[in-house]
Amino acid sequence: MTFKDLNLINPILQALEEEGYTQPTPIQTQAMPEVLQGRDLLATAQTGTGKTAAFALPVLQLLHGQAIPEPRVIRAVVLTPTRELASQVGDSFAAYGRYTGLKHLVVYGGVPYKVQTEALQAVIDILVATPGRLLDLLEQGFIDLQQVRLLVLDEADRMLDMGFLQDIRRVLQAIPEQRQTLFFSATMAPEVSKLAKKILTEPVSVEV
Ligand code: AMP
Repeated sequence: MTFKDLNLINPILQALEEEGYTQPTPIQTQAMPEVLQGRDLLATAQTGTGKTAAFALPVLQLLHGQAIPEPRVIRAVVLTPTRELASQVGDSFAAYGRYTGLKHLVVYGGVPYKVQTEALQAVIDILVATPGRLLDLLEQGFIDLQQVRLLVLDEADRMLDMGFLQDIRRVLQAIPEQRQTLFFSATMAPEVSKLAKKILTEPVSVEV
């Protein structure tokens, strides 16, 4: 199996070649075709499995294939538990998306609001965020998620462990229900499954 067999577009294949990726990992092989077809995803995957690319590549490809809304506003949101993970995910979008023309921004707590509210004035297709800071910025009216049709929860179990459930719920209220949702977690404890069940529609399950 190659990335070409997964029907990835040339701008992404080119970036992957430059990253030195020769073949997709099992989570990528299993998840990407379903996500590219528009299915919701419930993935049980640890760090190190290539889970980031398993959502970042199809998110980039799906957005690349869509008409850009006018005005050009955020179309995909990725929620992560920590600022470290958020910035790693941002780096992945930068690397894999370098030939797609798509723009991303990373927002997380512990940074002055002014830096982020200014950055939010730029064109952004993909927003990567920790739930608390995203909620703050939403409630202050700095972010509009009405055009979001793609939502990713990365390391959902850690977000729940960190007490982000209420924040996630409130962020979800700002995103239209008609969307594609990708849910990643290292474990599927009962409260994790419960959240997944609530926010996913007929998901494909993948476990690696
Ligand atoms: P992750 O599980 O997303 O944290 O990824 C773990 C590491 O694997 C990261 O350093 C990625 O750059 C790398 N990686 C992801 N997919 C591939 C692939 N198909 N081939 C080689 N390396 C990969």
